[in-house]
Amino acid sequence: ATFQRTIVITGGAGFIGSHVVRLFVNKYPEYRIINLDKLTYAGNLANLKDIEDRPNYKFVKMDICDFEAFYRLMQEEHVDGIIHLAAESHVDRSIKDPFTFARTNVMGTLSLLQAAKLYWESLPEKYEGKRFYHISTDEVYGALEMTHPEGIEPPFTTKASSGKHHLAYGKDFFYETTKYNPHSPYSASKASSDHFVRAYHDTYGMPTIVTNCSNNYGPYQFPEKLIPLFINNIRHRKPLPVYGKGENVRDWLYVEDHARAIDVIFHNGKIAETYNIGGFNEWKNIDIIKVVINTVDRLLGRKEGEDMDLITYVTDRLGHDMRYAIDSTKLQQELGWEPSLQFEEGIEKTVRWYLDNQEWMDNVTSGDYQKYYETMYGK
Ligand code: NAD
Repeated sequence: ATFQRTIVITGGAGFIGSHVVRLFVNKYPEYRIINLDKLTYAGNLANLKDIEDRPNYKFVKMDICDFEAFYRLMQEEHVDGIIHLAAESHVDRSIKDPFTFARTNVMGTLSLLQAAKLYWESLPEKYEGKRFYHISTDEVYGALEMTHPEGIEPPFTTKASSGKHHLAYGKDFFYETTKYNPHSPYSASKASSDHFVRAYHDTYGMPTIVTNCSNNYGPYQFPEKLIPLFINNIRHRKPLPVYGKGENVRDWLYVEDHARAIDVIFHNGKIAETYNIGGFNEWKNIDIIKVVINTVDRLLGRKEGEDMDLITYVTDRLGHDMRYAIDSTKLQQELGWEPSLQFEEGIEKTVRWYLDNQEWMDNVTSGDYQKYYETMYGK
């Protein structure tokens, strides 16, 4: 079969990447989709069981730091688009092992950029019709204050630059123009990779796009991250380790909404631009945990809230950023994207998925992950 174009999606066996691969493989049978992934502890081909036999899908096991191998792949497959999600993604791991984060997130991204540059510049049409789309995080912007109008307890109603009202824990937001100010080794490595991507546009004219997204949740997320970790622990009546007082605020987006944004931006986003992706959906950690407990209890037929006593406050994460809040007005107004789900619906869908897919959870929580879990939180 001949395909209209060939797109490499890096990190396609991970959480967000698997949703992006699934969306593209299903929606664009005329594109060839190559999922390039090293399969670290976070990569899992079981995330893509439903599409692995499609004629327009191919998996390649590769480390993004392997410049030679990636350059060869670009040539052999005539790659004209790259959607780059492969990364070390867990802040706690970056605190323990920052080198791995610099290697994969910084050197790996640079390696992809340089291979793409050499291959695309060798073609007669050069960069025409090409695209290097880099997926990043809102954590590069640093932390926001929990400011609130006098006499009013947060969350309070505020207006984004879109003019729409929503609830917030502070007056400030992250905009595309917000200065980078990363605090963790994870966010520092992502910030650095974002700069390299923009530098390849500014220096060589590569058609790049960067997006910075808030916290994602949904099916297939590795259970070291808050929501799947807690769903699994509640199910097994294990303690729920909450950092500090659980007061930290994050903006949450359902993973399929992120994947839809990536599709829209890959096709219609402007070259060299940055887009913030977020749900205008701020929650304190402790409030999320309560919603998750109630939902799990209800779906398991337990008394609602009966597992609240599993909440266990633990020493706060080092350098824990207080609040992240993204203003995604630009994306909403220029490209017409909007989040499709209310948080309560998204959580319900997510909890149901993890409860219905116990086998997936058992597989990923065995082996190496179990060792990691024990070093972090004890047996
Ligand atoms: P994840 O940890 O679930 O998946 C990462 C994937 O990358 C895994 O499949 C892993 O095997 C692969 N990978 C890691 N190192 C590699 C290497 N050296 N070579 C090739 N593959 C490698 O991560 P995720 O949560 O799906 O995040 C995906 C991307 O989105 C990351 O770039 C992350 O920074 C960004 N992001 C994540 C969130 C979030 O809430 N999870 C929010 C905003 C942005």
